Amino acid sequence: MSKHDRRENLRLLPSVDAILQTATAARIRRQSGAKHLTLLARALTDALRREMLGEPSGDKNYSREELLAEAEKNLEKLWRNERNSGLRRVINATGVIVHTNLGRAPLSDEAVKALTENAARYCTLEYDLTTGERGRRGARVENLLAELTGADDALVVNNCAAAAFLVLTVLARGGEAVISRGELVEIGGDFRIPDVLEQSGARLREVGTTNRTRVSDYERAVSENTKLILRVHPSNYRIVGFTHAPALCELAELAREKDILLYEDAGSGAMFDLSRYGLTDEPVISDSIRAGADVVTFSGDKLLGGVQSGLIVGRGEVVEKIRKHPLYRALRVDKLIYAALEATLESFRREAAVQEIPVLKMLSATIEQLKTRSSGFAEKLNKNRGANKDLKIEIAEGKSVVGGGSAPTAQPATILLALEHERMSAAELEETLRFSNPPIITRILDDVVLIDLRTVSESEEAELLEILENI
Ligand SMILES: *Cc1c(COP(=O)(O)O)cnc(C)c1O
Repeated sequence: MSKHDRRENLRLLPSVDAILQTATAARIRRQSGAKHLTLLARALTDALRREMLGEPSGDKNYSREELLAEAEKNLEKLWRNERNSGLRRVINATGVIVHTNLGRAPLSDEAVKALTENAARYCTLEYDLTTGERGRRGARVENLLAELTGADDALVVNNCAAAAFLVLTVLARGGEAVISRGELVEIGGDFRIPDVLEQSGARLREVGTTNRTRVSDYERAVSENTKLILRVHPSNYRIVGFTHAPALCELAELAREKDILLYEDAGSGAMFDLSRYGLTDEPVISDSIRAGADVVTFSGDKLLGGVQSGLIVGRGEVVEKIRKHPLYRALRVDKLIYAALEATLESFRREAAVQEIPVLKMLSATIEQLKTRSSGFAEKLNKNRGANKDLKIEIAEGKSVVGGGSAPTAQPATILLALEHERMSAAELEETLRFSNPPIITRILDDVVLIDLRTVSESEEAELLEILENI
């Protein structure tokens, strides 16, 4: 293509105005606003111009109409990508229950209701209805947490990383924190215990070895500079085989004897024993308190199944000291968080958590239940899809994943729907599902797209079915 032809082609490039007058632009404008639409159209013409200038010689000649149609299509794509980059509801068909990339825990109906009906409007965040005077923010959540864990008092901050940072800053700054070498871990998302300790101004005093640490190791390390013993649950990391770590109560005894504190970062936050669901070594918070920990921290959106938050429970004077520290003010949470947590914790208190909290409901789903759901689903799909015979669905056995900092070995057996399409590769099918509305997130194994209904709620099943029927 000569320079002349190229310039000729550029002349045919649709103007920003021409793009703004298309039907696609009119539709998008209602959502994007006119100013932003102009920005998109400008970016688009620039990209088209660059593309045409960069084209190898001898390439095609365009017509004005073709270029405008191309611009319209690109505008649609640009707008879709922008909207997809924001928060969108998705159907999690991966079988990973606490899926960090998909927002960890989905909320219970009760928590959603509390968000929209209480927290989204004027509410009693710092107002006491009984006296008509100022009330304490978060008081009810703190009381619920204390009651459920057997602790004297509780406090809520942004996330468990913030909780650990706050606890160490308030209780160990300027002194030493003794920790086993086996617990100097990094937990997904850049949470590294040694870094948190350093930032808090506490000095790290490592004891024992990676696989074995005894009480006597801790005892020898305690000096007049020691402020606390730190126990960290290794979460998504395990050392197996020739290992030893002292029981929490042994560390509590040592701490009392030496007049220092015992702090446990428990991570996931199991409110009761989850071993019947395959989670055999998750510390139960009330057990840690009973064993004598002065303070325990855990996440609100892992196994607790609530919202992102860091929950601190412990002895009265210890928690009060943390509450009074200026850093707490900087890390405190919003009314939305309190509302969702309150509802979540209430489910636990009335012993309805397994029925009401989605994470626990999914975790406790039995293989028989999943088999019934999956075969019913496959049957419906086979019956309803009419002309769409290209999609093949089969039932297979597999594993779900608990995720969210729980043991990597916790993989409950599950039933999978295996999808194959006559005219699409597994990657194309996966993408098609990801671009559906709502997006469906699946996984691919051995060139087959897998759907695990364990993480799909019953209310989402109908949507999923309809999308698959119409592929
Ligand atoms: C997950 C985890 C954290 C970090 O919790 P966030 O709520 O993600 O900040 C800290 N400590 C332990 C032991 C954890 O498992």
